[in-house]
Amino acid sequence: MNVEVILDKEGLSSYYFSMTVRQYDRLVQEIISDVQSYLEYLKEMGISALPVSEDNPRRVSSPTLEEIRAELGDCQRCKLHQTRHTLVFGEGNKKAKFMIIGEGPGYEEDVQGKPFVGRAGQLLTNILQSIHLQREAVYITNIIKCRPPQNRNPEPDEIRSCYPFLFKQIHAIQPRIICALGTFAAQTLLKTDVKITSLRGKFYEFNPLENPTIHGVGRTPSFLTGFEGIKVIPTYHPAYLLRNPERKREVWEDMKQIAKYLVG
Ligand code: URA
Repeated sequence: MNVEVILDKEGLSSYYFSMTVRQYDRLVQEIISDVQSYLEYLKEMGISALPVSEDNPRRVSSPTLEEIRAELGDCQRCKLHQTRHTLVFGEGNKKAKFMIIGEGPGYEEDVQGKPFVGRAGQLLTNILQSIHLQREAVYITNIIKCRPPQNRNPEPDEIRSCYPFLFKQIHAIQPRIICALGTFAAQTLLKTDVKITSLRGKFYEFNPLENPTIHGVGRTPSFLTGFEGIKVIPTYHPAYLLRNPERKREVWEDMKQIAKYLVG
């Protein structure tokens, strides 16, 4: 016996073909297994709910920042918990249109439990003031929430453990624009290994997922609501500026672009 299959592609065109029941079973199994691995992938990225259908794109329900913090708890998901003093979740305006994402807590942040409160943080506050923004108006967090020993670079497994929480923070806040400070923030958010010198000063779309075999590069599935239109602009990290003050001018240019975007 043969089965008649109709593939309706976005209501535009239909394809009819016939196959044996066995082929049909295999096709259905393959589709189920693809959907399963896709859902597992989303779960790993921190997405635990999806809207019912694309025709009814209800917002993916988003946990609040308090709920996300509670879910992190006394996090021991990676080795950094062994050496950290305080987990630095993030702080600022919960409805900020402008979000700043740095690399990870340093010594002062680890002591105080707040992001960017050391020397680099003071410079960040001054940079914000240069575009007439108070720290309280923005939301500030980091790619990783715990200080690496001796401020070494974050390692891939540490970034992977933390990313689902950052992802949820972005979803909860829904900023219009994210400024990625430094190499690690820029490369993690944009999923690239291009150097910060080439990335900085340009606007990119924030694409929360990366799975080219499922989505194709650079595409966010349309049902994954809540991230549409969020821009990312990378710039140099304030700690880098402390060592290379001659690069401040470029950061100033980037900040002016952000200010213009926020007003527009
Ligand atoms: N550097 C960062 O990347 N984040 C902080 O919170 C402090 C310094």
